[in-house]
Amino acid sequence: PPVIELRQAGLRYPGPPPFTALDGCDLTVHQGEFVTVVGPSGAGKSTFLNIVGLLDIPTRGSYLLDGFDTVNLRDRDRTALRGQRIGFVFQSFHLLPHRTAVENVALALVYNGTPRKARGDLARQALLRVGLGHRVEALPTTLSGGERQRVAIARALVGGPSLLLCDEPTGNLDTATADTILGLLEDLNQAGMTVLVITHDTAVAQRGCRTLTIRDGKMTERVKE
Ligand code: ADP
Ligand code: ADP
Repeated sequence: PPVIELRQAGLRYPGPPPFTALDGCDLTVHQGEFVTVVGPSGAGKSTFLNIVGLLDIPTRGSYLLDGFDTVNLRDRDRTALRGQRIGFVFQSFHLLPHRTAVENVALALVYNGTPRKARGDLARQALLRVGLGHRVEALPTTLSGGERQRVAIARALVGGPSLLLCDEPTGNLDTATADTILGLLEDLNQAGMTVLVITHDTAVAQRGCRTLTIRDGKMTERVKE
């Protein structure tokens, strides 16, 4: 099945006054796609990300993740599905400052039942995948911005997600570093990972195989020729 299948999905905040932040969103994303989402501030990008990331439940329509109906799940099943299938990458890296790179990555495995002894090895492998095999014992404060984001990407990957969901992943990086991080996301995508990047940067958006636009809660797709 597709990784993401949204059908007439919408979210209306009850208010008062009620406000429709996402309306009638239809989207199918298959495994191995690299999708970017653009739109001005307040357009509904975070609302969309929260729905796709199983942090919010649509008030209308349906959302299947890897073929699982997510709308009617119990909260703890939704949380478990999120932990198994979604890797999050944020603009600010959210690393624990007093933990080494490998510890930061391994922590992502604490709540999904990975045996303690396996966590370190899996974390090292994830750091190798992002090109940080030589920095596994480094503290975040000794790493550059780009290296910190690599640690955060390793943390998102370590649990073997089916979807990498990135919210302004280059927003805190200079242009050259942003370019290397986008290159890494492209490499991971080439290796089969499904990647979705939310950005307000049109240059970043152009790196996707597909670019979606959200404006006033409505999603449209410009088909590339
Ligand atoms: P209707 O619009 O059919 O009169 P209601 O206003 O009673 O239905 O809303 C039913 C549910 O659907 C509520 O939870 C509401 O928040 C949600 N809802 C209504 N319109 C939308 C929309 N355009 N997008 C997303 N959710 C919506
Ligand atoms: P973006 O991420 O594109 O900046 P958001 O998804 O954060 O947009 O917000 C979309 C719209 O929904 C905005 O107009 C925002 O003001 C509104 N919104 C966000 N959260 C709430 C809320 N809890 N209640 C009501 N409106 C909200």
